[in-house]
Amino acid sequence: MMAPQAILTVDLGAIAANWAALAARHPGGAVAGVVKADAYGLGAAPVARALLAAGCRHFFVAHLAEGVALRAALGLGPMVAVLNGFPPGADAGAGLLPVLNGLADAAAWTAAARAAGRAPPAILHIDTGMARLGLEAREVARLAAEPALLAGLDLRFVMTHLACADEPEHPLNALQLARFEAACARLPPAAREAPRSLANSSGLFLGPRFASDLARPGCALYGVNPTPGVPNPMRQVASLVAPVLQLREVAAGESVGYGATWVAARPSRIATVAAGYADGYLRALSGRAAGSFAGQAVPLVGRVSMDLTTFDVTDVPGIAPGDRIELIGPDNTPDDVAARAGTIGYEILTALGARYRREYRAA
Ligand SMILES: *Cc1c(COP(=O)(O)O)cnc(C)c1O
Repeated sequence: MMAPQAILTVDLGAIAANWAALAARHPGGAVAGVVKADAYGLGAAPVARALLAAGCRHFFVAHLAEGVALRAALGLGPMVAVLNGFPPGADAGAGLLPVLNGLADAAAWTAAARAAGRAPPAILHIDTGMARLGLEAREVARLAAEPALLAGLDLRFVMTHLACADEPEHPLNALQLARFEAACARLPPAAREAPRSLANSSGLFLGPRFASDLARPGCALYGVNPTPGVPNPMRQVASLVAPVLQLREVAAGESVGYGATWVAARPSRIATVAAGYADGYLRALSGRAAGSFAGQAVPLVGRVSMDLTTFDVTDVPGIAPGDRIELIGPDNTPDDVAARAGTIGYEILTALGARYRREYRAA
């Protein structure tokens, strides 16, 4: 008997092709791979190894522990930077770069550099419109007055992060660019001359003014559309199929699932599949999404349960227990599913659960 488990398939070749396509869009600078949050739910180690093989030499994670694991997966060589930063020495020799998100971070690292007598590599993050992490304008002003605050650091990049890159017409894009240039011009000479890092996935589609020495795409590598409202230029990467555990006939007037929110308007055939909100198939999709079987849409009916979801397969003859219904795939991209749930493709991918059998299609 087939194991009643959903299968998440990750196409590493598509990820490599997406990276190459983004690199071709950024001819004057390098293109990193952002693999935080387990490569947006798809598996940081296999994804990063595929990116490395494709030519990627710079990686970003969010947490220190993600960086330590990534260094172990990739070996020495590629840059691995930790966006949330970490205190000096905390990487236990893994050779990670901290992103310095404020003068307090910089002070900790300059003190460590003085004590160790060597210049640790780091990335300086300047906030230009996110108000989240990064040096504030007043901190940049202080740096301009006290260049020693960065003394002894080997700044590999100075970066900023765009807030509205997925809205090309948003005025904040140009404003952030101008603020970034102005802030960089005020930095101490060594920092002023350091390479710069600007665009995320959508930023790579804002035109040549948003090019830099290092772009930092994440979502586009994984097939999320970096150009909302315009056809998706990226290849699809993830597919999720869940096995039908049972089929049953439901009479007109009978309800399906918790809350009895769906009531059959006609005699209906209901397929119950082995995936639910505990697997990241969001409960917000209840009654709003569809699966696909042999290219035919099957409406999700009733509420998504923790471990199970029900689909109306009345109009799909021939479906049998053990068959697999596609929840995410070519017919239901992460962006499509996200639109049904009132969220973004990023959240659909990062929510993907731990109970799937994961299969990696080699690059
Ligand atoms: C997550 C993140 C990225 C990647 O963003 P995408 O929109 O997924 O391309 C780049 N830079 C920073 C600072 C981030 O936090």
